Amino acid sequence: MLTAIGTGILNVVSMGKVFRLEEAELKLTKNSTLTTDEEIKRYHNANKEFKVLSAQMIEEIKKKSGEHEASIIEGHILLAEDIEIVNTVEEALKNSSISAEWAVAEVFDNFANMFSSMDDELMSQRASDLKDIKTRLIYILQGKKMESIKDLKEQCIVVSRDLTPSQTSGINKDIILGIATEVGGKTSHTAILSQAMEIPAILGVSNLMSSVKNGDFIIMDGKTGEIIINPSDDIIEKYKKISEEQKDAKRLLEIYKDKETITKDGVKLHLFGNIGTPNHVPSLLKNGAEGVGLFRTEFLYMDRPNFPTEEEQFQVYKEVAEALEGKPVIIRTLDIGGDKDLPYFDFPDEDNPFLGYRAIRICLDKTEIFKVQLRALLRASAYGNIRIMLPMIVSLIEIRKSKELIEEVKKELSKENIAFNKDIEVGIMVETPAAAVSTDILGKECDFFSLGTNDLIQYTTAVDRGNDKISHLYTEYNPGVMRLIANTVNNAKKNNIFVGMCGEVAQNKYMIPFLIGLGLDEFSVSPTAILPTRKLISELSYKELKEKVQEILNLETSDEVFNYLKNLISE
Ligand code: PEP
Ligand code: MG
Repeated sequence: MLTAIGTGILNVVSMGKVFRLEEAELKLTKNSTLTTDEEIKRYHNANKEFKVLSAQMIEEIKKKSGEHEASIIEGHILLAEDIEIVNTVEEALKNSSISAEWAVAEVFDNFANMFSSMDDELMSQRASDLKDIKTRLIYILQGKKMESIKDLKEQCIVVSRDLTPSQTSGINKDIILGIATEVGGKTSHTAILSQAMEIPAILGVSNLMSSVKNGDFIIMDGKTGEIIINPSDDIIEKYKKISEEQKDAKRLLEIYKDKETITKDGVKLHLFGNIGTPNHVPSLLKNGAEGVGLFRTEFLYMDRPNFPTEEEQFQVYKEVAEALEGKPVIIRTLDIGGDKDLPYFDFPDEDNPFLGYRAIRICLDKTEIFKVQLRALLRASAYGNIRIMLPMIVSLIEIRKSKELIEEVKKELSKENIAFNKDIEVGIMVETPAAAVSTDILGKECDFFSLGTNDLIQYTTAVDRGNDKISHLYTEYNPGVMRLIANTVNNAKKNNIFVGMCGEVAQNKYMIPFLIGLGLDEFSVSPTAILPTRKLISELSYKELKEKVQEILNLETSDEVFNYLKNLISE
């Protein structure tokens, strides 16, 4: 029995027999017996067929998962038709008597290598898209059909080095019980597709292909990312039980899907979801979210070689606003810097990037970049209930400057007769101690607060949120953090504004009773945490918890806080 480990995409157990999907082996002949013009014609015809086949694929994906997943293949059509790529292939053909397949392979490999050398997961995703297109074009040129997992008849788990978006989109969930690959991570297109299609997946498993044969039996534990190869009967029994429990728990939670989020004693709360891209929306809605509490727009900026245009951003914000059908959509403006890099933006070298040039600081410095996003957000506000949220605020001045820019953009749009919501709400992330301590002041000039506890804990405890060595100090139970949270909620109440939380703490079952007692209005959590959070809230009483808040805030150490909170819920 062998165990391999990768990144689990869904928190579920799945098991079955291995079907190895071998990588297409491309046999290419370099020299052509045809004329250059004939080879160029072959290449253009292949491109045309590629477009037709991709269009069929797009329709299939739209049916199975949704518009946004289909846009991955739409992106492939655009890449295949990219003028720079087409010109380079034509040039290669004109300059020597090589075959179209050889020119395609050479040019696509060169572009792919360029992207993969950027040492960025999203850029290497682009490289794998280019390789996918290359293989498909060469198969078309050679008149061959690609090995497809669409035609599998027996239930199995597909194991391969990589799975291209075009292959993932062909998956029939009744037959394919899971996928496991050597490459890919949380943000790869395969991960996005498998998440949207709810196919259990473990990606990025080193040496996987050399560890399994066709017909091996494997267990995939999506929670830990473990793959157990040819387990004993005892282990199989153990995981079957876990899988049944997971299914039962999921079924039990289903009843909370269409319910209100309401405490045992009748206090109505708001339960929203966090998203990074529009393709997280279906899963959010399927789980009964009442809105989007945090749209991390930086992902829009990361998956590309240049800044997204106003039109591109507008389309994305509009798509999300429309999908939410009037429910609130809180969109955070660009929160880049710290650990979030852009390959095309020149960040200064800094000793402490988390304390450096980032988020609102960049936006207020490079207002030309900020205004593009603000225009897109305001234009999209005509199509739904969009609210603007500013990240990393430390002072009132940043709110004022941002609001001045928003007013400037509103004036421009009015002049151009472009519709937008004139009363759009502007709120802030409370994620720095300076903001949390001065929420009495900040609350006078903004419409809502959302507690960003991921950063608030980091800055309050002075512990880098990614530093394992001191991670025991990074805790929400630190009385300093607890008091800043309480101060923020209290000052929101005094200023009569809406207060939510979009950091991970919002889905911590031990913290939820405290947050309810404080009077937090909104919890924004990941899609899969929505139903468990709604269930827990329905079991708690605001009146009872309100009485306990001061006692909790008087506790003196993190351990005391944790032990107290642990006793407030039945497990
Ligand atoms: C936070 O800091 O709590 C937050 C929600 O933002 P991010 O995790 O994107 O920094
Ligand atoms: Mg943050």
